[in-house]
Order: sequence, then C-alpha cells, then structure tokens
Amino acid sequence: MYQGGGSNSQGDGAVRVIDMRSDTITKPTPAMRQAMANADVGDDVLGEDPTVNALQEKAAKLLGMEAALFVPSGTMGNFCSIMAHCWERGSEMLLGDCAHIFIYEQGGSAQLGGIHPRTVRNKPDGTFDLEEVESKVRTSDPHLPITRLICVENTQNICGGRVLPLSFLKELRDLADKHKLAVHMDGARLMNAAAALNVPPSEILQYCDSVSMCLSKGLGAPVGSVIGGKKDFIARCVRLRKVLGGGMRQSGVLAAAGLLALTDGAARLHQDHDNARIIAEGIKRLDPSVLQIDLEAVQSNIIVFNLVSHAVTPNQFCEMLNTYDPKDDLDLNIRVSMSPTGFKRGIRCVTHLHITAEDAQLVLKKFRIVIDRVAGMLGESVDK
Ligand SMILES: *Cc1c(COP(=O)(O)O)cnc(C)c1O
Repeated sequence: MYQGGGSNSQGDGAVRVIDMRSDTITKPTPAMRQAMANADVGDDVLGEDPTVNALQEKAAKLLGMEAALFVPSGTMGNFCSIMAHCWERGSEMLLGDCAHIFIYEQGGSAQLGGIHPRTVRNKPDGTFDLEEVESKVRTSDPHLPITRLICVENTQNICGGRVLPLSFLKELRDLADKHKLAVHMDGARLMNAAAALNVPPSEILQYCDSVSMCLSKGLGAPVGSVIGGKKDFIARCVRLRKVLGGGMRQSGVLAAAGLLALTDGAARLHQDHDNARIIAEGIKRLDPSVLQIDLEAVQSNIIVFNLVSHAVTPNQFCEMLNTYDPKDDLDLNIRVSMSPTGFKRGIRCVTHLHITAEDAQLVLKKFRIVIDRVAGMLGESVDK
C-alpha cells in the first residue's frame, strides 16, 4: 500500500491527530526510503547522477516535453521558468491575482529577476477573462514593458484546488500564439488536475510551453519539483538553477523518491479526491447556519468551506477542531488551516496519502461535534 511511512500522530499517542493543513506535510513512504537508501548517485552538477537523469527522462516523457529538470522546490521551478521565458530586460508577465507566483513567492520575479508582473482577475473557477488578458498585452512602445509570458496555475490553489478546463487552456493558447507569448503552467498540483480530468498530464500541457510540478506535495516525495519544457528553455533553466544555488550534487537520493512519486504517488491521487468528496458532502449535510460549502468547487484534494456563524472566529473554529474534550466520544484532533485569503471566513482542509477513507469518516464525526458546539453557542448568545 502506498500509505504513509510516518503516521501523522503527534506526541506519545494520546490523542490521534489528522493533519489536513496541506499535502506538503506528507512523509516519504517506506518504499521511497528504501529507494533512497539504494539509489545509484553521481555529481549532478556535472550531469553524472544516473538517478536524477532517470527522473528527468521519465518526467519529460510523462509531461510530453522535450526535456525536464529536477529543482529543489516549486518556487525555484517557477522562478527559473519565468526568468528563462523573460530573458530580455524590461519583460512583463501576465498572471492571475490569486496566483501562487504573485502572492506567495515574495515577488521573487521582480525582487530578483527584474520582471514586471501584471495581474488579471482570477475568476472563482481559477480561470481568467481572456478579453481582459488581451487588453493587457502591451503594444510596442518604448514607454511600455514588453509582454512576454502568461502564467496559469493548475490546480488553482487559492481558488480551492480548481481544475482549469481544457477548453480554457486551448483558447488561452490561441491568444498567446496570436501575440507571440509563452505560456507557463504553475503545475504544483498538475497531477491532481490530470487525475481529476482523467487525462494524462501531457494532454493538459499541450497548450503550455513549460510547467513546474511539485513532487513533494500529494505525490509524497520529501523534496523537489521538476520543470518541463523545450531543450533550449531547459538549458537556460540549468544556468538559472545554478546561480540560485540550486545545483545539487548527489541528488539521486532525492530523485529516487521522485521516481516513485511520478508512478505510485500519481496513481493513488484519485483516492485523495474521493476522500475530499466524502468530507465535502458530509460537511454539506451538517448545520448550514454554521458552515457552508460549494460542492461544485471541490474538484481535487482541497476543500474550502465558509464559517457563516459569527459565534466564533475562523481561528477559534480551527482551534476547536484541534482540541480534545474528554466528554466527546472521539479521541481525535484535526488540524486545518485558514483559507489562504481569509476571504468570506474561509477554512481549508487538504486530503493526502496519510488520510484513508475511514479517516474521512472520523473527520466528519469531529466536525459534527464541533459544529453542534458552535450551534449551541449561538443559541446561548441569542438567549441573552
Ligand atoms: C506549493 C506551491 C508552489 C511552491 O512550491 P514550494 O515547493 O513550496 O516552493 C507553487 N505553486 C503552487 C500553486 C503551490 O501550491
């Protein structure tokens, strides 16, 4: 079974903890640790690590790209990709205002890369209005930056793990071609999108020039991302990775886990999606005066719901889920996180390889207990 090596329990086993803050908390499986211990390695800066080379070849094939590159993180994968596309000074990229690249990467493309980011408004489904995109493509004028690149995110994290429709990507590609722009996909969770659409990732990426995909999230590897793209693009990324300090030596020990992430890790993602569905539908059946959820928005392994009751704050609600009361007939705490934007008192749960279908039922039990408690509080405050 491709379940976790380490459990996500904490402390000395008193109260079990199911950690749903993110799929980044996943630990390498026993099979991964075995593969890491046995990995054949060499100096990857010299291109001599056979396991890294195998990972890059396998990833390139899977992604339908000419070449691939192993990098330490998704942030570095995105940054190298953006820099490689925006090679000329004065370049500008267009991207969603809810993009991870725009919000959570320290503005690195501007801070370190000198690239001007210009946003378009993300729709709730993670796409954007293509007319707005087109209206923001610069004309050739020495007053203006040079539009070079459009970035999309799939699945779209802040929008709640939304899967971009293939029809949207096709139209975006046509627009990009019309204006000679490159398209980069922040595919941190690309394999979740592929699993949700039930298509190979290459089918999604036929509309993109490049991608950065995390091995270290739902796919379960401890470290690393891969970039995919054309050979000359990847050659630029190799240089960029080096100047950023991301040239690693015997990194085959990490790539060995990455190889299993691409096979076994990807093959089980539909289980995470099924479990997210179970939890979302269970929440929908609970008291709607406390929590509300849009089931249509739950498309992958991310569940966002809104705390509509004002009896507690979202922070207090999260704290209640993570608190054990001996009066409850359930030895379980759940860790969740505030929805990235905090928009509409949103709270986020993420399913991953350490959460089974039985766990999903237990999670719902805990939700019921906490929601009943919150509903009771509201009653009290109304009585006063
Ligand atoms: C996690 C994530 C990244 C960055 O990956 P790190 O490995 O944490 O640097 C980029 N984009 C999205 C959408 C992510 O969720």
